[in-house]
Amino acid sequence: MVTGVVDLDAAAMPHAQRFDVDLGGLGLPDLRVLSFALRLRWEWLRRSQPDAVGDGASARFWTDSWLPNGPICRSAPNLFRAVACRRRNRTVKDALDGRQWTRDITGAPTAAVLCEYIHLWDTLETFQLSPHTSDRFIWKWTASGTYTASSAYRAFFIGMTSLLGAKFVWRAAMPPKVKFFFWLALHGRLWTADRRKRHGLQPEATCALCDQDGETTDHLLASCPFTREVWARLLASAGHQHLAPGNDSTLADWWLLTRDEVPGTFRRAFGSLVLLVAWIIWKERNNRTFSNVAMTTTQVLAVVTEELDAYIGAGYRCLASFFMAGGYSAHPPPSVATFV
Ligand SMILES: [Zn+2]
Repeated sequence: MVTGVVDLDAAAMPHAQRFDVDLGGLGLPDLRVLSFALRLRWEWLRRSQPDAVGDGASARFWTDSWLPNGPICRSAPNLFRAVACRRRNRTVKDALDGRQWTRDITGAPTAAVLCEYIHLWDTLETFQLSPHTSDRFIWKWTASGTYTASSAYRAFFIGMTSLLGAKFVWRAAMPPKVKFFFWLALHGRLWTADRRKRHGLQPEATCALCDQDGETTDHLLASCPFTREVWARLLASAGHQHLAPGNDSTLADWWLLTRDEVPGTFRRAFGSLVLLVAWIIWKERNNRTFSNVAMTTTQVLAVVTEELDAYIGAGYRCLASFFMAGGYSAHPPPSVATFV
């Protein structure tokens, strides 16, 4: 396995999480889920709300959500199991007419079935249909109550956990390759020495930068002494040395907490800077690991400023604001001489 080569299969994300940005995906639509969402246009018959039932001619008695406590199939599951399958599509109007719903129950009258039966009987005693009003169906995933394919698509992801900081990665003023690298770092999918050792690809997991600790993503990009020195000197040039990571910092926590400390106008610049420095630190680690070529922190800082100059010159101008606000007068940001 060559480090730096991106292998999405190796990343092995949970399937749905690869797509939604907030859930840690790449923001690409999941066409399979999207096709389900589009086909739901014809399937949204579980959409009625309690106050939407009119004459009961359309809403289904057993399976639609027309009572205050939801569909009967969910509020009284034992009773529903005792209902003959051919009767489960009966409309509310038919079911209430002469209490025909009671004749739908053909299963064994267990204690649970009887309890739910009595409770449902009591609920229906006070219920009145509105004979001159049609049933109105409401799509519960939008405020307007109208079906949309996008709301149906999002509903497939309800309940999934989000990835910390995922949405800020893609808003950063950095080229896609840097954002993608950082996205992998947040997922813990960089081929660090620690991970390579776990996969049996190398015997040792010592950090290539400091040779003191295990090379994990958090160590390499946040708490490594080498990385912290780069950050301390870089941030000092902008008057923000207090923002540098500590020896127990983790990447996502430090990045997001520090980002909140920065004034709002410079937040995007700082967030972007974190991605850039992490990218350059990673390249330095790769040079040491695979080419036996090492730079000092001063030389790494020189690379950082060269890259900053290049990116700002290419149009990523918000990066300059962070350094200029800290009292640095030149533009573009600090020259190599600052760190010598
Ligand atoms: Zn280290």
